[in-house]
Amino acid sequence: MPIIYRCGSCGETLFMFRTVGQDSFGVPTPDELFTKIGPKCPKCGKRLTRPTLNRVKVIGRVGNK
Ligand SMILES: [Zn+2]
Repeated sequence: MPIIYRCGSCGETLFMFRTVGQDSFGVPTPDELFTKIGPKCPKCGKRLTRPTLNRVKVIGRVGNK
């Protein structure tokens, strides 16, 4: 199941991490994503805060079928 990080403001998918057959592969932490994505949402410009990325929701089990 993919792990999707979304902007909590506009719902833009910021990063998708597919875990298909790679359970042991390291899932990026919010802090690592902050480094990848940058300090704000590329779509709506909402600032993301480093410690908790509280504007980003971690959603699992998307596309369960
Ligand atoms: Zn956004």
